[in-house]
Amino acid sequence: MTDGQNGQTDNQDELKVTASAAQESNQEQMDIDAAAQAQIGRRIDCLENGFVRLVDFMGNDAAIVQAARVSYGAGTKRLREDRGLIRYLMRHAHTTPFEMVEFKFHVKLPVFVARQWIRHRTANVNEYSGRYSEMPDQFYLPEAAQIRSQSAVNRQGRSEDTLPEAETEKILQQLEVGQQRSYAEYLAMLETGFARELARIHLPLSVYTEWYWKIDLHNLFHFLHLRLDDHAQFEIRVFAEAMADIVKNIVPLAWEAYEDYRLQAIRMTRCERIALKKLLGQRRDNELDDAELTAIGLSKREIREFRRKLADLDSLL
Ligand SMILES: Cc1cc2nc3c(=O)[nH]c(=O)nc-3n(C[C@H](O)[C@H](O)[C@H](O)COP(=O)(O)OP(=O)(O)OC[C@H]3O[C@@H](n4cnc5c(N)ncnc54)[C@H](O)[C@@H]3O)c2cc1C
Repeated sequence: MTDGQNGQTDNQDELKVTASAAQESNQEQMDIDAAAQAQIGRRIDCLENGFVRLVDFMGNDAAIVQAARVSYGAGTKRLREDRGLIRYLMRHAHTTPFEMVEFKFHVKLPVFVARQWIRHRTANVNEYSGRYSEMPDQFYLPEAAQIRSQSAVNRQGRSEDTLPEAETEKILQQLEVGQQRSYAEYLAMLETGFARELARIHLPLSVYTEWYWKIDLHNLFHFLHLRLDDHAQFEIRVFAEAMADIVKNIVPLAWEAYEDYRLQAIRMTRCERIALKKLLGQRRDNELDDAELTAIGLSKREIREFRRKLADLDSLL
């Protein structure tokens, strides 16, 4: 065989490898698309009478990358490269490409949860009208495990301690009786011809409402950051967890980056950084070589950024 023939065989092999990698990447993308489509109409029950249901979505990881390329130029076509770009965007708070993805949810939730939820102003909302229609005979009654004492450390929250069984039973009964009584009286008021828009003020905050809620991924990430957090009230966290469960299937790369760089990341104050520096004592960044940092999961660029942060920490003292 001549050298020329050898070269031809090498080229053919290379082409085969590239074609099979492209095929694999296409298959992977098709699997991701199928998993995303399967989320439409998916309903996750929340609390006893509520739910989160994905009505529709627009865009995916590719839409984020496509938008980013407008600013960074074309070139990164493969899934692995898309992942790197999405992670870069998330790490450096280049947030607008994430706004290219949108989600529309149908949510059924108690009014007291809706009051917290509605504070997030960047969504589009259309709510069930208690002026136009009768309110449903559905109320949130917490599970016994949620009947806990006021937290001594967090003035806004409940503690881990449940109340004595007798107290729990009494509270649950009072809540339920109150809900039933106010609903019966509400219906009786409507019977007299009294307007729905005012009769509803008799109902407690535990009554259920429904809305369509549309939001882009960037703002949803902000919502989830606040409402998946331990400090958020348990009842709204349940809904946030349900939405997270849906969204991670639609934008798996963005979700992974979000978990790594926002959800699981911590922000340190200046004083905490000084304390950390003291704690680390004489340790210097060169004690961790690049291979160890790579094994932890940092990319080359992240290693550079991490070393810059350590140098920054060093400069504090
Ligand atoms: C654990 C917890 C406890 C809370 N306790 C209370 C409480 O006791 N009382 C209370 O009233 N609220 C409370 N809130 C609500 C909180 O103060 C915020 O209103 C809510 O979390 C929405 O946050 P946001 O404004 O960042 O979100 P969004 O309204 O979704 O806004 C997203 C981002 O857009 C920007 N933005 C939106 N609108 C404006 C604007 N008009 N001007 C400037 N920037 C804007 C901001 O950067 C904002 O962060 C609590 C929230 C949490 C998570």
